[in-house]
Amino acid sequence: MANEFYCPVKIVYGQGGPIRAIYRFGELTANAEILCLQAPILGKLAFYPSDVVSLQAFVIIPVLSWGVTINHVKTDYRRIIRFTNAFMKPQNLIQKITEAGFIPSALRTDNCLACGRPLLEGADKCSSCGWTYRVGEKTHN
Ligand SMILES: [Zn+2]
Repeated sequence: MANEFYCPVKIVYGQGGPIRAIYRFGELTANAEILCLQAPILGKLAFYPSDVVSLQAFVIIPVLSWGVTINHVKTDYRRIIRFTNAFMKPQNLIQKITEAGFIPSALRTDNCLACGRPLLEGADKCSSCGWTYRVGEKTHN
């Protein structure tokens, strides 16, 4: 059997903005086939590599909140899906997930990942909400 990575996490799930659901006592499981988040009430969120554009570390300095954002293309899931582990830095979480074999392979969508509205062709920035693909990512040009 291939590698598998498991760790307890807190899951943040929602549309963004001030209204968010936070699920404590969550669990993360990752292997080459699937990345799974599971928590009471929330249930199970499952991602294939082809559902995920990238795993992105985030750090919010004033409150010292850190974790990993799942940039995904699943239209039946909320846009904002993050998980945190108080004892593991996000870079380490991403590294463990990658070592377990889960490699995101989704192409970027043509819809804004924040508000879901279509992006203009070739645009990096959403004209509706200002969200941009470039946030926190390396630029390729
Ligand atoms: Zn938008």
